[in-house]
Amino acid sequence: MLGQSLKYLSAQLNDKKISSVELTTEYLNRIRSLNAKLNAFITINEALSLEQARMADQLIAAGNASPLTGIPIAQKDIFCTKGWLTTCGSKMLANFTAPYNATVIERFNQIGAVNIGKTNMDEFAMGSSNETSFFGPVKNPWDIHAVPGGSSGGSACAVAAGMAPAATGTDTGGSIRQPAALCGISGIKPTYGLVSRFGMIAFASSLDQGGPMAKSAEDLALMLNVMVGFDERDSTSLQREIEDYRRDLEKPLAGLRIGLPKEYFDQGLNDEVAHAVTQAIEEYQKLGASVIEVSLPNAGLSIPVYYVIAPAEASSNLSRFDGVRYGYRAKQYVNLDDMYKKTRTQGFGQEVKRRILIGTYVLSHGYYDAYYIKAQKLRRLIANDFTDVFKRCDVLMGPTTPTVAFDLGEKSDDPIQMYLSDIYTSSVNLAGLPGMSIPIGFGKKGRPIGLQIIGNYFKEAQMLNVAHQYQKVTDWHLQVPIK
Ligand code: GLN
Repeated sequence: MLGQSLKYLSAQLNDKKISSVELTTEYLNRIRSLNAKLNAFITINEALSLEQARMADQLIAAGNASPLTGIPIAQKDIFCTKGWLTTCGSKMLANFTAPYNATVIERFNQIGAVNIGKTNMDEFAMGSSNETSFFGPVKNPWDIHAVPGGSSGGSACAVAAGMAPAATGTDTGGSIRQPAALCGISGIKPTYGLVSRFGMIAFASSLDQGGPMAKSAEDLALMLNVMVGFDERDSTSLQREIEDYRRDLEKPLAGLRIGLPKEYFDQGLNDEVAHAVTQAIEEYQKLGASVIEVSLPNAGLSIPVYYVIAPAEASSNLSRFDGVRYGYRAKQYVNLDDMYKKTRTQGFGQEVKRRILIGTYVLSHGYYDAYYIKAQKLRRLIANDFTDVFKRCDVLMGPTTPTVAFDLGEKSDDPIQMYLSDIYTSSVNLAGLPGMSIPIGFGKKGRPIGLQIIGNYFKEAQMLNVAHQYQKVTDWHLQVPIK
């Protein structure tokens, strides 16, 4: 069953060809054999997973199954999961067992999906390579000398290596799309506000959005159907009619207008990525789509703007980790101030501290107008560029990342280079738009390449249609790194 689609697994479960307990055991065995090498999971709890699988088998036997009932799903360790360790990749929360479920976890529980384990991630989701995790880096299953991307690197690795058929991720500046691209899988960041952030440990609240990672667009649609929905416990959750994200998958693409932002194909783009993207776009033209060049004049500002706004929000969100309420507390201190200081010095890693310092700086008196307010104004311009181009095209396409996966350690001492990994993805978060990545080929060293598809607000069903039609005529999404 390993490597099969969610649709296939669901049919096997419903036809009683396999039980959820058997399926879960298969995946647990796979995780056991690969995790020491790949480090995709921080926590595995066989007893809890198998208990959920037994409950799922009862639901199926009683005829109460929905499409993902009984299916093992890997959960990014940013989602609070009752009874499970929820670490967010940090020493600060290394001993934190969540007392409640994130809404995303609750929604999977309600339909009887099985939590197969909590995946490794960059500390507090800050990173593009999964090297900032307190629990060590995740390896790219296509080449263990390469990074898997970040921050949802554990989830991407788990799906690519067949340790889970699908996983959750979160995307603040690219953390679903970038690791999906570098690991050769599919992932979608929905429109801001569609997936509840309740219980999803906050990094930059105005940008953070949960979403699914899986092998194919069709699988992403099944996952989104579970994840999306209004939640009164999240003040930015959107109240909208429920959609079936599978509904448009089979629509032909004739007449589709694809916009190619010229800023996404400039000198920063590596040749092998450019070549694969061009070929994918030719494939779309064969499917009946037309292509127009468009411009996002403010796209070049997205990295500086993102790296003002995201740290500003992070510095505020992370003030709750003070050693008093939960998580790590320094062992020795002389007074309360010293306790805060030592706890935060010892509990946070270097990248998190860097963000807290930048964020505190740009929010401080005298710099607030110069940096934070300025960044907010530019954020509006970046969003307006997208509104303009969506008057003339249905979706935008371009590379997800400027290069294929880089080597472990290659950029860890150079934060600016690391930040540039999100050059094509972060503007989508700043605008609150949906964005996805699908696999479209490999570079010379056999490392995967992703195509980014950006849609207008709430156009997830259309984007999944666009991705699915490509996946029907190509097989990049079916390639596996480890048999
Ligand atoms: N790489 C970006 C950062 O480090 C984005 C991370 C994310 O999307 N969570 O902030």
